[in-house]
Amino acid sequence: MQDFSQYDFQNRVAIVRVDFNVPLHKETARVTDDKRIRAAIPTIQHILKQGGSVRLLSHFGRPKNGPEAHFSLRQVLPCLENLLGMPVMFCDSFAEETTSEMRESLKQGSVVLYENVRFNSEETEGGMGFAETLAKLGDCYVNDAFGAAHRAHASTTQLASFFPNDKMMGFLMEAEVQNAKKILDNPLNPFVAIIGGAKVSDKILIIENLLNIASDIIIGGGMAYTFAKALGGEIGNSLYEPERIEKVNEILALAKSKKVNIHIPVDSVLAHSFSETAEVMFADTHCIPSGWMGLDIGPKAIIEFEQIIKKSKTILWNGPMGVFEWSSFENGTKQVAMAVCEATRNGSYSLIGGGDSAAAIAKFGLENDVSFVSTGGGALLEYFEGKSLPGIMALEN
Ligand code: AMP
Repeated sequence: MQDFSQYDFQNRVAIVRVDFNVPLHKETARVTDDKRIRAAIPTIQHILKQGGSVRLLSHFGRPKNGPEAHFSLRQVLPCLENLLGMPVMFCDSFAEETTSEMRESLKQGSVVLYENVRFNSEETEGGMGFAETLAKLGDCYVNDAFGAAHRAHASTTQLASFFPNDKMMGFLMEAEVQNAKKILDNPLNPFVAIIGGAKVSDKILIIENLLNIASDIIIGGGMAYTFAKALGGEIGNSLYEPERIEKVNEILALAKSKKVNIHIPVDSVLAHSFSETAEVMFADTHCIPSGWMGLDIGPKAIIEFEQIIKKSKTILWNGPMGVFEWSSFENGTKQVAMAVCEATRNGSYSLIGGGDSAAAIAKFGLENDVSFVSTGGGALLEYFEGKSLPGIMALEN
């Protein structure tokens, strides 16, 4: 693997795999959150500054049957041009005639955005034929799509094999890997992992792996109630996964033997129905009356969690503490976010990852007050589950 910042891009065409899978406004089709596009700009600008040209590849959504207008990457073009401050050519074909004609006509310093790679079914199948077609677009391969690094797809994995001596990570991918490794390889203790979100089933593997490196694990969100039930509590109508009780008991036993403290919220904000305007009350998480459900952590849990967070030197946060999208149930997530920011100001290292925690921290305007906000959702989760990501392995091998 080459070092991106040392590589000579002069007169070379770089194929850059980015993750421009961004949300669009339903009616106007304008990009509503440009974080992933913004995050790739330094890589593109570096190649241009070094005298190279850029050919951008990305997926967008999950098209099933070839080209569909609402999955077209053409929709992100205005946003990209605006962030880059220059015109970008759009190309909806990977056909050899089109690309070689374009290669002739385009000057050094040009940027081309290609159509959604997933319009070709070979992309998700990891087809070598499609990867070979893509390889003809340029002279070297830069992967900056951390958000797609857990997929063994043609443009994220097989494509790298066509550039054994000219493949590398872009600035974003490099930063993502370095930040994740900071926690995985050598975390400063005490290390708290804050794991929230809806379901235990999505987070079992990450919790199991974190039992090997964390000193404290805070469990919040809907998944906390399956833990509370396993510990003998009454959880009313809260989210509950009965088929996970055995697993949760295993995790609790393993935590005890490894001397990892697992913290469940002692109290909760309860709602009478799953609604933004539902009647609310507070109760201990172990004594939730029938007909009520926990939708956020309560005031006593907030105080306890704040204390743990503020004494920690390393903080990993994945998943909200409650239904943070609704103002009545956002407080737990917000107070936890503020405690993470305070710890960071006092010298702790904090990494926020996973779509919803990143969205929550953005909602509270605190993105710049933590050490690193990852652009990876599933990819980050898999990395912390201890898996090797195919997109990264393809660069390293
Ligand atoms: P995940 O994608 O698994 O990280 O889950 C995030 C989602 O979990 C968010 O949309 C939250 O609204 C939801 N969530 C968090 N806490 C709860 C809860 N106590 N009950 C139901 N849903 C929750």
